[in-house]
Formats: sequence, structure tokens, C-alpha cells
Amino acid sequence: MAELELLTLNLAQMIKESTKHQDSTNPPLLIASVSGSASFVLGWFSCGITSAVACKLALEKYERVEMYYMEIDTAHPDNERFISDCEKWYGQKINRIRSRKYKDQFEVIEKTGYVNGTDGARCTKELKKNVRFDFEERLKPDLFNPDRPQYSNQVHGFEFKVDEIIRAIDYAIDFPYTNPVFPLIEEKLTKENCAQILIDAGIELPTMYKLGYNNNNCIGCVKGGKGYWNKIRIDFPEHFEKMAKAERKAGYSCIKGTFLDELNPNDGRTPKPIVPNCSVVCEDILPPDVNRSLAKRVFNGELSVYEAVQHYR
Ligand code: SF4
Repeated sequence: MAELELLTLNLAQMIKESTKHQDSTNPPLLIASVSGSASFVLGWFSCGITSAVACKLALEKYERVEMYYMEIDTAHPDNERFISDCEKWYGQKINRIRSRKYKDQFEVIEKTGYVNGTDGARCTKELKKNVRFDFEERLKPDLFNPDRPQYSNQVHGFEFKVDEIIRAIDYAIDFPYTNPVFPLIEEKLTKENCAQILIDAGIELPTMYKLGYNNNNCIGCVKGGKGYWNKIRIDFPEHFEKMAKAERKAGYSCIKGTFLDELNPNDGRTPKPIVPNCSVVCEDILPPDVNRSLAKRVFNGELSVYEAVQHYR
């Protein structure tokens, strides 16, 4: 459990009371259950445009929000500028956490020998999921340490699209203890809406979006397909070469059945290659256990995303 390094913890200012009372269609906010403990709403900031706006909405809605960003060395350097701009927009610092074991996806592949597997990308697990689990562990209620800070809810930037609503519901079912809130779904905001909100706020979009990528994943993401990797070959040739070597060493490829060093430069070329978003909760495959028609009812405004989650409890 020692994989996590807390670089900055702005916890001193946390207070016991957490949030406003909600009606039945709003998120079921928890109040810290251990007497004397400090409680806050935990916002996951990924340097993507959706999580940036979700955190902003959470700050406007809840009394005490603390934001966290997972650092990975292969993030685009412009992310530092974006973080700084968002901190000014929020009027608040964004805290940072990171894996102690691995600095980026290349190191994960090199040390574990895994690229992708049936349960997803190994780097997502090591650089994001395990970091989140360790962090959550440190914030769990502790009867012997009643003043230990705790989160009451987690904020996630799932956007207002049927597939994303499905993922949000699935996440809430799988991790009910996180008591997640989904501000973008509540406010019916898509990624495009979020981009406009940032532009209107005078914040330049992160460079990866401006280069034509559909998210702000690590540079050289193992979830990318042929078109993505051919774009990386042009935009970030050193990352392409590094991954091509890492694949051969591991004996597995990012793209099913094709190693990067044999990828035809003309394959998969599109103006905007789609790569699944990699957040603290991401997976490529839509969960089979969430009913699409239920998600469509959320999309059509017939019920809230939280009422849809209740359907499975
Ligand atoms: S963004 Fe891509 S490379 Fe980075 S951790 Fe996620 S899956 Fe791995």
C-alpha cells in the first residue's frame, strides 16, 4: 500500500461540515460519520476538459471541495499551464498524487512486461486505479483517529452522452462507497460544452486537444489504435519509437495483432483519431450490466442519474 506519494495535501483548511442538503433527484451526499472528523468533496481533475468543468461546478455547488490530479511523466508539458490556469479559475490549489513505483506507461511495461490485457491496460491499473485505491484507503474513517480527513463524495467528469451515462451508473454500482457525483450529467453538459465554457473563461484548451486528440491521455497511450499511433509517429516521434521498443521487449503490442515497428504509416489515418479516455475509472468496454434504455431515460430527462443508480441497489 506504499505506492502513493502525496505531493501536496491542502488538508489543514478542511472543516467538519461538508455539503448542502439535497432533494431526491440530486446526489445523496454523505456527512462524515466519525465524530470530530473533517470532511470534503473530492474532485478528480485529470487535465481533461470535462473533469476541469466538473470540478468547477462542484466548487460552485458544495462548500468544501478538494481537487486531486494524478501526475504521470508522459503528460504533455502544457498540462502545467492548464493546471495553473484552472487554479486561478477555481481560486484554489489542485493537489497532486502519483505512483511511487512507476513514473509513466513505459516504465510499467518495462517492469511488468504487460501492455494490455483482458482486464484493461496495465498502466491504467498501476498509474491510476491503484493510486486512487491507496489514496482512498488513507482517507477511510478511523475510529482511533477521529480527526482524520475524509471525503464525503467523489466528483467525476462523465459527460452528458448515453455511453458516458452508462459508465457513470456502472461506476456508482461498482464503487458505491465513493458516493460519486456527476455534475456534467446533472447539468446536461457535453465535452463540446465544456470546451466552450473553458474558452469563455479565458482558458486555453490543453495542447493535446489543439493538436487534434480527443482527450488528454499520456503521450503514447496504449489504448490508441492505428490512426492514433500514426499521428503520434508524426507529432511525437520519440514517444512512438520508445513504445515500439517497449512492445518488442514485452512481446505484446498496443494495437491488437500489429507491432508499431510494422505499422503501415497510412493505416487508420483520420483527422481526429478516437482514443478511449483514461481517467481514474476508465475502461474501454461498456459494462454489460447497465441497461442502455435506463441510460436513455436519464438522457431524455425522465429520471436523474442518481435515480437510475438506485434501480440497481
Ligand atoms: S492514458 Fe493511456 S498510457 Fe496513460 S495510463 Fe491511461 S491507458 Fe496508460
